[in-house]
Amino acid sequence: MKIFDYVILGGGAAGLCAAMRLTEVGASPLVIEGGSYPAHKVCGEFFSPAALNILHRWHIHPLPIQQARIHTPSTSLEFTFPSLAGSLSHLRFDPYLAEQVAKKGGIVRTHTKLIQLTPASTLQENHRLTLESGEILEAKQLLIATGRIPHLTQQAPRMPYIGFKAHFAHISLDSTLEMFSFPGAYLGLVPIEEGKVNLACLAHVEKVKSAPSSQDFMQSLIDSHPILKRLIESGENLFETWMETKVPEFGLRQTPDWPRAYFLGDAMGTIPPASGNGLSLAIISGYLAAECAIQDDAVGFKKIWRKRCTSSIWLGKRLHQLFLHPSLGNLALNVCQLFPSLPPQFFNKMCKISR
Ligand SMILES: Cc1cc2nc3c(=O)[nH]c(=O)nc-3n(C[C@H](O)[C@H](O)[C@H](O)COP(=O)(O)OP(=O)(O)OC[C@H]3O[C@@H](n4cnc5c(N)ncnc54)[C@H](O)[C@@H]3O)c2cc1C
Repeated sequence: MKIFDYVILGGGAAGLCAAMRLTEVGASPLVIEGGSYPAHKVCGEFFSPAALNILHRWHIHPLPIQQARIHTPSTSLEFTFPSLAGSLSHLRFDPYLAEQVAKKGGIVRTHTKLIQLTPASTLQENHRLTLESGEILEAKQLLIATGRIPHLTQQAPRMPYIGFKAHFAHISLDSTLEMFSFPGAYLGLVPIEEGKVNLACLAHVEKVKSAPSSQDFMQSLIDSHPILKRLIESGENLFETWMETKVPEFGLRQTPDWPRAYFLGDAMGTIPPASGNGLSLAIISGYLAAECAIQDDAVGFKKIWRKRCTSSIWLGKRLHQLFLHPSLGNLALNVCQLFPSLPPQFFNKMCKISR
C-alpha cells in the first residue's frame, strides 16, 4: 500500500490551488479527481479581486472586469469595481492548474473516485482511502476539497436551489458584469475569453418546478426583462441545452475534527453566487490549507479559515436575499442612487477575506 505525505481529494479550484502551493515548496501531493479536464462546471466564472494576486503569481491572468450593472425589473444601477475583478472559464482555468501541478512534481489522477474513507482517529494513524478501482492508499495529511455537495456523509443535504449555465457567442458586454434580479431567481452575464459570454443563474427549486421544463423556465426569465432579452437575442447559445445542477443551502459547514484533515473551498463553506466570491474563497483556502498542512496544523487552519471567511459569507448571503427579492433590491438600488459610494464599499467589504 502506498503512503502519501499529502493527498488532496477533489481537483476543483480549491484542491488544485492547494496542490499548486504544495508543489511550490517542493512537496509532491496526490490529487484525486473524479472527473477529468477540460470540463464545464455550473459556475459564473467571475473572479472577485480577492484572489487575483495569487493567480497573477502563477501567471494566470483572467480577463479584466471593470464594472457591474445591476438590474431589477424596474431600475438599474452601474458602478465601477474599486479594484479590477476578472473572468476565466473552468474550461481554461482547471486544466492549466492541473498541468502546472503535474509539471512541478505533483500527481493528478483524473477519473478516480474515492468510495470509502477511513479517517485517522489519532495523530499517529494515517487516513485510509479506498478508490473505485479497489486500490487502497494512505495519507498523512488529507485535504478535502470535494465541493459543495458533501460526498463524505451519508445524509444527502437539502437542495433548495438549481444552478444553470451556458456560454454565448456574439454578445457584447465590454468588461461589464450584468446582474438581473427576479422573484426567486437571479442571473449574471460576464464576458470570458475568446469573445464568449458566460450566463449563470441561481433559482429556487419551486420556481423552476412551476415551469413546464428547465428550458422553459430559463426562457421565461430571459423574456421577462427587455435588456436581458435584447442581449440574448443578439447572441448565440453555444450549449445544446442549459447545464444545470442542484445546489444546497449556503453557509459554513459542520466539518469533523479528524487529525491532520483540512476541509477547504465549498467543502468547508459555500457563499452564494451573488457575491462572485466562491472561487476566491476556494483559491485562498487552498493556498492557506497547503501552508498549514506543511506545518502539520489542521486545528490552526480550521480556526483561521472560519474566522477569515465568516463576514464575507454573511454579507454574500444578505446580497443573495436582495437579488432573490427584487422589491427589496429596488429599495437598495434607490438608496445606492443617493449614495453612490455604497456599492463599491459593500463589494470591497464582501471581498475582503478578513484576517
Ligand atoms: C450557479 C452558480 C454560479 C456561480 N458563479 C460563481 C462566480 O461567478 N464566481 C465565483 O467566484 N463563484 C461562483 N460560484 C461558486 C463556485 O463555483 C464555487 O465556490 C467553487 O467552484 C468552489 O470550488 P471547489 O474547488 O471548492 O469545489 P468544486 O469546483 O465543486 O470542485 C470539487 C471537485 O471535487 C471532485 N470530487 C467530489 N467528490 C469526489 C470524490 N468522492 N472523489 C473524487 N473527486 C471528487 C469533483 O469532481 C470536483 O471537481 C457559483 C456557484 C453556482 C452554483
